Amino acid sequence: MSFVFSPAPVVSVPVLGRAERYPARRIYCVGRNYEEHAKEMGFTGREPPFFFLKPTDALVVVNEGETGHMPYPSLTQNFHHEIELVVAIGKGGRNIKAADADKHIFGYAVGLDMTRRDLQNDMKKQGRPWCIGKAFDHSAPIGPITPIEKAGDVNHAEIDLLVNGAVRQTSHVAKLIWNVAETIEHLSAAWELQAGDLIYTGTPEGVAAVVAGDTLVGRVAGLGTLTVKVDPAK
Ligand code: MN
Repeated sequence: MSFVFSPAPVVSVPVLGRAERYPARRIYCVGRNYEEHAKEMGFTGREPPFFFLKPTDALVVVNEGETGHMPYPSLTQNFHHEIELVVAIGKGGRNIKAADADKHIFGYAVGLDMTRRDLQNDMKKQGRPWCIGKAFDHSAPIGPITPIEKAGDVNHAEIDLLVNGAVRQTSHVAKLIWNVAETIEHLSAAWELQAGDLIYTGTPEGVAAVVAGDTLVGRVAGLGTLTVKVDPAK
């Protein structure tokens, strides 16, 4: 087969302890999935989970022990961090029940759902899609994937984010409003999940702005750390 230009390369994420990489297909994200973060965004009460997507080529893939780089994005004055547990789907399915969700998980990673908060808020006010606030280039840093059998009890892990060494976000995955299994149940009712799908499960409270020169270190206990530096705008 020939193409009118070279196709974009497959975006892939390293897997700890394996030479083979994890080829990414889609990035699903869960909105407002920790109570204290929902409150800081002006919402209360348990609502059904809702989802948005990022393009797969928005991933900033960071190897174990290395520092990734993302440029300060265009059009924003309020570039926010959101530390998140990421689920990597290994076996697809439709209408997956929460009780069966583990069978569909390949592994877990630490991720950042970077957000142009000012643009997202503008879109919210106008009832327009969030894409410009959420799905921009370099908006999805991710560390290596830890296979589920080596990940320990991720559902009860501590999750935190430091900026220039100071703690900005700290919580526990157990505080997810919709836990990983329930999220997979809801998501797979709306889309057929496939191997390669990544799910950013939501962020705890403490989201705030970063600027060029800042270094972000995100951690989910048992999954290692994700280090990313904000470079000057391109
Ligand atoms: Mn998020």
